[in-house]
Amino acid sequence: MKLTVIQSDITTVKADAIVNAANSSLLGGGGVDGAIHRKGGSAILDACRAVRAKQGKCNPGEAVVTTAGNLPANYVIHTVGPVWNNGGKEKEELLKNCYINSLKLAIENEVKRIAFPNISTGIYKFPKNIAARIAVEAVKNFNQDKIEEIIFVCFDQENFELYNELLKNENK
Ligand code: ADP
Repeated sequence: MKLTVIQSDITTVKADAIVNAANSSLLGGGGVDGAIHRKGGSAILDACRAVRAKQGKCNPGEAVVTTAGNLPANYVIHTVGPVWNNGGKEKEELLKNCYINSLKLAIENEVKRIAFPNISTGIYKFPKNIAARIAVEAVKNFNQDKIEEIIFVCFDQENFELYNELLKNENK
């Protein structure tokens, strides 16, 4: 499995699935969530509404999958990151679960290339260094042979540098 880091807008990434840092309502919000719904169009919101009607809201650490609407990806996997709010082991565990549950859904949907944003490091205020370490450990420890490439899509320079440092010895 290849681990890649890019600095980009995730709505432009051509992967089988892109992950959205959603909120529990699944009905859209700011940050990457807003960008995905804006560019993906109403098909994504319709699909999120259908998920909500079936299972109610999505709790932190959980993930659900929908169409990617007009985006170049096939699926959007919506996962709800924890709000940092002074942190703690429980928050770190929830963030890890975001990555694990997204990867499980990816495998169920035969996704080979999946792109993650830096979940919880925007509005939800997770310290970027802690979130990056959790993200990289979670995907590395996830034992599977179906997914071929995991792309960490960093929006800001600080995250891009953190991920590059954490993954500098990968894929060599
Ligand atoms: P959260 O509520 O989980 O913190 P945010 O969307 O506020 O979610 O931020 C998560 C990360 O996504 C942040 O690092 C932010 O810079 C980044 N981000 C914002 N817009 C985009 C985008 N279009 N593509 C990729 N990453 C983005």
